[in-house]
Amino acid sequence: MFQTTTAGSLPKPAWLAEPNKLWPAWRPAGEELAAAKADATLLAIKEQEDAGIDIVTDGEQSRQHFVHGFLEYVEGIDFAHKVEMGIRADRYKAMVPQVTSALRLKRGVHEAEAQLARKHTKRDLKFTLPGPMTVVDTVADRYYGDKVKMAMAFADLLNQEARALEADGVDVIQFDEPAFNVYMSEVTDWGIEALHRAIDGLQCTTAVHICYGYGIKANIDWKNSLGAEWRQYEEIFPALAKSRIGQISVECIDSHVPMHLLKLLDGKDVLVGAIDVATDTVETPERVAEVLGEATKYVAKEKIIGCTNCGMAPMRRDIAYAKLAALAQGAALARKKFGSPA
Ligand code: ZN
Repeated sequence: MFQTTTAGSLPKPAWLAEPNKLWPAWRPAGEELAAAKADATLLAIKEQEDAGIDIVTDGEQSRQHFVHGFLEYVEGIDFAHKVEMGIRADRYKAMVPQVTSALRLKRGVHEAEAQLARKHTKRDLKFTLPGPMTVVDTVADRYYGDKVKMAMAFADLLNQEARALEADGVDVIQFDEPAFNVYMSEVTDWGIEALHRAIDGLQCTTAVHICYGYGIKANIDWKNSLGAEWRQYEEIFPALAKSRIGQISVECIDSHVPMHLLKLLDGKDVLVGAIDVATDTVETPERVAEVLGEATKYVAKEKIIGCTNCGMAPMRRDIAYAKLAALAQGAALARKKFGSPA
């Protein structure tokens, strides 16, 4: 009860990439970069274990960005000629690569770090991949001419990668779909269908992470415009509850999401965001336990996993790991407070 995990990404050491940035430049190059990524992966696992996190990730140490880190391994994408595009319904502009021909996976995207991580941890291991809807919202299409068609093409590649990760011993595969909170009607139209295509044939645990974004200014400004109650989840949870995805990762602490909406996820494991990634203030274990306790009013205790609201890539490293320790301590406290059989 009340196991803990993270949304996925963790800050990179300053010797690997520029700190505190969402799209950081790598510091080493060539073979040195590959070795540095591997070292940072081991470090991220060790630090999560020491913090007391149960289901660990590679901290996304080998990718520059959660979407583009995948796209770099896809044939049919022109990275040499990036264009500016408004993403997440024009919430912010980003320089994105262009899809110029049929898509194909060049090779295993996370093979190296998955095998390395598996070798070095006995804990459950989670890998994150971008979800198809979020991918097509973060790349410019010059080939397919149809968003859904392109999403399904990406879903097939994601499935290929997910199967490879499962074969390498990964226990949980999570798809990150912040776009689900932006294009709610499309989630039921084709978003879940694309996810089903991405998880096709998998035996391992599957998850989808749906948040209100990293703690960057454009997202904070957007959140401030959403009013007193954020009800995006209300539109998509019923369809997710009926889906074949096992776990749903959601943003809870410090958000304006009414917690009772979690009820709509009946039957699913819920990764309850109990760590705010948009503030450097480290949560107290008591506060974490309070959020998990609140969730027990709407989700069966044994289906609650303590998690972060979103990835921590752009945060300060020492703060991020202090927050993970608070998460684990808070979950332990919640087990004591709410753990007795109902
Ligand atoms: Zn997120």
